Amino acid sequence: MPSGCFLPFGLALTIDYKSYHVNNLRRGSPAAEAGPPCYNGPTQLVRGDCVTTVRIYDAKQNRVLAVERIEKTDAEWKKLLPPEQYEITTRKGTEAPGSCTFDRVHEAGIFRCVRCGTDLFRSSTKFNSGTGWPSYYEPVSPLNVAQQPDTSEGRLRTEVLCARCGAHLGHVFDDGPLPTGKRYCIDGIALKFAAENRL
Ligand SMILES: [Zn+2]
Repeated sequence: MPSGCFLPFGLALTIDYKSYHVNNLRRGSPAAEAGPPCYNGPTQLVRGDCVTTVRIYDAKQNRVLAVERIEKTDAEWKKLLPPEQYEITTRKGTEAPGSCTFDRVHEAGIFRCVRCGTDLFRSSTKFNSGTGWPSYYEPVSPLNVAQQPDTSEGRLRTEVLCARCGAHLGHVFDDGPLPTGKRYCIDGIALKFAAENRL
């Protein structure tokens, strides 16, 4: 059953997707006869030889969509992003505490990935942690963020990344408020805010 997918950069795409990863798709070639069925989509969205889908929760549509994972090299992100965004999201930097420009935003809405637009955190889960970084007690969906161990700075932390494009967002700690007890400590520069009426 064809289903519409949201993609950033103003591209609308209809994918006949199923619950599998699409592998080994040659650019511009017909779908392979052997192996899983392939999606032969617009070539401008295909990098290299493989297309991989990822399941992401879309807050506006209130459902899970299968969308293409966004994979770019450091050099490609460097061309696309302002230096500060590149440094934080791609080189895993940390913004100075207190520098977040939307800390006084109190509208209802969604904080999205600055690189790919994936919905990440609801404003209703934002709280004042006193750290100087925007903090949330949960993501919009566990699907939308990835986590991995981070041993930089001589200690073990849990890094939080965008599940679709791999952008470094910040870290999650176990000293947050109820109901989850989690504190997603996020670099504001990795996010962009969309008010509820502009979703
Ligand atoms: Zn992203």
